[in-house]
Amino acid sequence: MTERTVTIDVHKDLFGANEEAAAENAELFSQSGIQAFDIMGSVGTGKTQLIESLCERLKGKFRILMVAGDLATRIDADRVAAHGVDTVQINTGTACHLDARMLRVALADVDLSEYDLIFIENVGNLICPAGYSLGVEKKIVVVSVTEGPYMVRKHPLTSKRADMVVINKIDLAEAIGFDMDALVSDVREVDASIPVFKVSSKTGEGLNDLIGVLEL
Ligand code: MG
Ligand code: ZN
Repeated sequence: MTERTVTIDVHKDLFGANEEAAAENAELFSQSGIQAFDIMGSVGTGKTQLIESLCERLKGKFRILMVAGDLATRIDADRVAAHGVDTVQINTGTACHLDARMLRVALADVDLSEYDLIFIENVGNLICPAGYSLGVEKKIVVVSVTEGPYMVRKHPLTSKRADMVVINKIDLAEAIGFDMDALVSDVREVDASIPVFKVSSKTGEGLNDLIGVLEL
């Protein structure tokens, strides 16, 4: 009996081209005075709800565009649009992440001078979105207390490549006996200095700290 594990890097050859496209996006954002944020995380961590809460707090002060990555639906974009925020949906078909060229194509007909902030909700997936730069200001990984305790340990590269970690749904932590300190120390093990925010998009707890560090 053998038990083999083979590691395959399917994305290897794609990274170079993506980095070039990301640099072009970054240039475009900077010319238009836009701050863009790439919000990554598994399905069900509350990425959309986090964006909705941020939009509610920030829409009076900034002109916001939300870009939603999803395989097939507009569900998340529609939720954010209900807050009076402009949205662009990218339906990726089979692709489990956004890349810089998809973002470029999606924004081709958008007048970027009309916006100050772009929140990009990446495809629900904790693995490859982290490997693809989009040319944004910050990559934010959202994990939540309802995903079980090992999300960070099992996906260390995601936290490593992100600029900050948001632990969402902290309002549920006590009820399910979630060990927040253990999760934070998992993050610390991956990256000793990455900022970690504990928030509840539902109650609003912790959101002001997050907004503060985003320098918004
Ligand atoms: Mg969502
Ligand atoms: Zn992918």
